[in-house]
Amino acid sequence: MAVRVIKEKCKGCTKCVKNCPFSAITIENKIAEIGSSCTGCGVCVKNCPFGAIEKVEEKKAAVDLSSYKGVWVFAEQRGGKIMPVVIELLGEGKKLAKEVGSELCAVLCGKNVSGLADELFAYGADKVYIADNEELENYRTDAYSKVIFEAITKYRPEIVLLGATHIGRDLGPCLAVKCSTGLTADCTKLEIDPDDKKIKQTRPAFGGNLMATIVCPNNRPQMSTVRPGVMDKASYEKGRRGKLVKLDVEFRKGDIRTKVIDIVKKSGDIVSLTDADIIVAGGMGLGNQEGFKLLNRLADKLGGTIAASRACVDAGWIDHSYQVGQTGTTVKPKIYFACGISGAIQHLAGMQNSDYIVAINKNENAPIFEVADYGIVGDLYQVIPAILEELEV
Ligand code: FAD
Ligand code: SF4
Ligand code: SF4
Repeated sequence: MAVRVIKEKCKGCTKCVKNCPFSAITIENKIAEIGSSCTGCGVCVKNCPFGAIEKVEEKKAAVDLSSYKGVWVFAEQRGGKIMPVVIELLGEGKKLAKEVGSELCAVLCGKNVSGLADELFAYGADKVYIADNEELENYRTDAYSKVIFEAITKYRPEIVLLGATHIGRDLGPCLAVKCSTGLTADCTKLEIDPDDKKIKQTRPAFGGNLMATIVCPNNRPQMSTVRPGVMDKASYEKGRRGKLVKLDVEFRKGDIRTKVIDIVKKSGDIVSLTDADIIVAGGMGLGNQEGFKLLNRLADKLGGTIAASRACVDAGWIDHSYQVGQTGTTVKPKIYFACGISGAIQHLAGMQNSDYIVAINKNENAPIFEVADYGIVGDLYQVIPAILEELEV
């Protein structure tokens, strides 16, 4: 939406100049003039006492949707290692590609990363677009978005998937804006509409209280970020080959506005909940921070790791990196122990796809029992020591 001044009606009263929240209006020769910082908010249209500003519909050229083909996965790598979420996206991307009748491609950026292409082929990519350049060694928004945007413009993929990692969450929206298309962030489900072959992207909305399914009807590519741990991993086929396509990479002065000076790894314990097979998670039912010591004993015994509900993180009992749920990590272990966790929808969003869920809760009506495969009604301070005793025999 844009606005324009009807010169014949404008009296030069300056009211719009004062009211424009973006300082986009000046008075030239006693007539209002709209500048380039106008966002089209429409405030001036309502406020002009002489009806001298009107909205104008911008006509956009329709996008030729049929010219876009292929499902692309951003093959995020760090330090020469493909991120686990990429394998999950390749698994999901394969299904989508089959349904829309196109090929699955991976886009790989970095320095000296061509050796990673074989891994992407083995995990199902039919084609790997590779941008190998020293400026791409470490992720920087300007560099990666320029290269991938140029590739999208040239090869026109229909669907682009990125992991909802820190990098994917930065790169995805930036690419979407450059491509003038939409992006659905943090998807938990992707499916192809059998009628029109458009992708239906489902994600939690309104604080996780409902699931919204979003489509991108008029623009391409259709873009989604998907949280790590949500989709099934692609299967590995040793020796599987595909086509390698080298992308043109050229940076001019000023293209990249940031410089990586140092990479500082977060100190302290770094947990990787997404890779854990066994998780022993605690909630407010622990009563205090000390309760995690008991959970640690069980996790150690089973070769697993501990985790927590957000309420425990908010209470300062444990670091956010342990949080499972909508605003934490999404996990899919073989066994998930939920100890003293009520089962709020935002917590379930992060763990309900676990293979087996064992819930321990004092309240037999706690919602966690609705998703649990095994439910133990009781005080966790009696139940867990009893389990430990059994395991120690
Ligand atoms: P409570 O709801 O207080 O439950 C404690 C449970 O422990 C109760 O069921 C009780 O019966 C049981 N209990 C008490 N004592 C014992 C005992 N001795 N033995 C056994 N059981 C006992 N939450 C998350 O976890 N992850 C998220 O990512 C997340 N994101 C959110 C995002 C938004 C936008 C919002 C609005 C909320 C989010 N929440 C999230 C918070 C969520 O709504 C809940 O408040 C939270 O999960 C509750 O944590 P809890 O189950 O530990 O605590
Ligand atoms: Fe002109 Fe209306 Fe702006 Fe006054 S408020 S300067 S009449 S456009
Ligand atoms: Fe300012 Fe909004 Fe009017 Fe544009 S539409 S000139 S931003 S008030």
